[in-house]
Amino acid sequence: MSWFIRQEKGIQTPTSQKKESPDGLWYKCPSCKKVMLTHELQANYYTCLNCNYHEKIGSAEYFAILFDNNEFEELNPNMTSADPLKFVDSKDYPTRIAEAQKKTGLKDAIRTAYGKMNSIDIVIACMDFEFIGGSMGSVVGEKIARAIDFCIEKRLPLLIISRSGGARMMEAGFSLMQMAKTSAKLALLDKAGLPYISLLTDPTTGGVTASFAMLGDFNIAEPNALIGFAGPRVIRETIGRDLPSGFQTAEFVLEHGFLDFIVHRKDLKDELTSLLKMILPKNGNGK
Ligand SMILES: [Zn+2]
Repeated sequence: MSWFIRQEKGIQTPTSQKKESPDGLWYKCPSCKKVMLTHELQANYYTCLNCNYHEKIGSAEYFAILFDNNEFEELNPNMTSADPLKFVDSKDYPTRIAEAQKKTGLKDAIRTAYGKMNSIDIVIACMDFEFIGGSMGSVVGEKIARAIDFCIEKRLPLLIISRSGGARMMEAGFSLMQMAKTSAKLALLDKAGLPYISLLTDPTTGGVTASFAMLGDFNIAEPNALIGFAGPRVIRETIGRDLPSGFQTAEFVLEHGFLDFIVHRKDLKDELTSLLKMILPKNGNGK
């Protein structure tokens, strides 16, 4: 049985010719566990080909999905956070910011940009959860405020895509003030007769839910997104009873009247376009 006997000893391939499969070639859906190629996932708008699970994505991906030819002009791209409270927990706040910036390549937890979506001029503000849990501090609030000023000046509709753990602890009261500030600015947008659409993605919680995310002329969400204010454990302990199944999912929130509709990410651009065409003034850029 000579074919069972190894003729040559050891590994013969030199290191220089070693074949390695590139990182991130495969994607395993965390919901249905099916494995697919990463580029297939991307081509399907970062949603699972099998079960429609919506993978969490950031501003770069949403801008690419929504802006025509991925062309846009970013507003206030270099705004970064100060450290008004000299806050220190496991590390000091400026170090935490610097580390998050290095890790993500972002300046803070939101990017705001102006461009065209199916030829309609629009401002899109999109949160990045990768940056300190998409937490809202002064920069997030200020960038939203300035995006709204820009909308009013140029007579443009606004879309905010939320994905956030809530207010940023390290800025404490300054973070909470952003709730009032963004809400007041949105009231000015409303007064100017310009539409605001809020898209809630997984997860949208805390001070973001309690301010701009729920103040849209239309509040819409991605399927199965977690939407809430406090977490389920806190609520359960406070009210002392079990919560219904599906509590805090987009579908549950829709059924209870807090959302207008749920949209699959692959239909997002077209649905937003149809909506804006219905509500924008005919002599505006709605055409
Ligand atoms: Zn899946």
